Formats: sequence, C-alpha cells, structure tokens
Amino acid sequence: MAKRYYKCIVCGRKFPEGQGIVITKAGITLHFHSSRCAARFLRLLLERLDEGEARRVLKELVDELKKSLEEKEKARAKVI
Ligand SMILES: [Zn+2]
Repeated sequence: MAKRYYKCIVCGRKFPEGQGIVITKAGITLHFHSSRCAARFLRLLLERLDEGEARRVLKELVDELKKSLEEKEKARAKVI
C-alpha cells in the first residue's frame, strides 16, 4: 500500500504519514515535518492572537499543566 505524504506548511518538506506532527483544529489541518517547524508556527500564531484572549487561554493552560506536573511529582514521592 502506498504511503500518504504530507507537506510541511512551514518549510515545504514532504514527510510520510505517521511521521511529523499533524494537528486539526477548527476544520483546518496543519502538517509539520518536525517539532522545530511546529514551534516556529506556534511562535507566529501567538504573535497574531488577540492579547486578552491569549492571556486567558495561556494562563488557563499553564495552570493546568503545572497542576498535572505537581500531581505527577506527588505520585512519584509516594512510590519512594
Ligand atoms: Zn518543516
């Protein structure tokens, strides 16, 4: 079976299905051949977001990730 190939929207490099990073949001699918290209896209995206909306979403996400890290650390401490 022929593998599907995607094109990185940041650098244009082609990569086979199952590799790279593919994200679908709001009906738009984004293809990145590497995490480096995804990071570059993330920076561009954040620059363009509305300040207030970005602050709300970023704060929420950072708090959520911090909480998840703390829980993992707690769980690790219990094992030891
Ligand atoms: Zn790329």
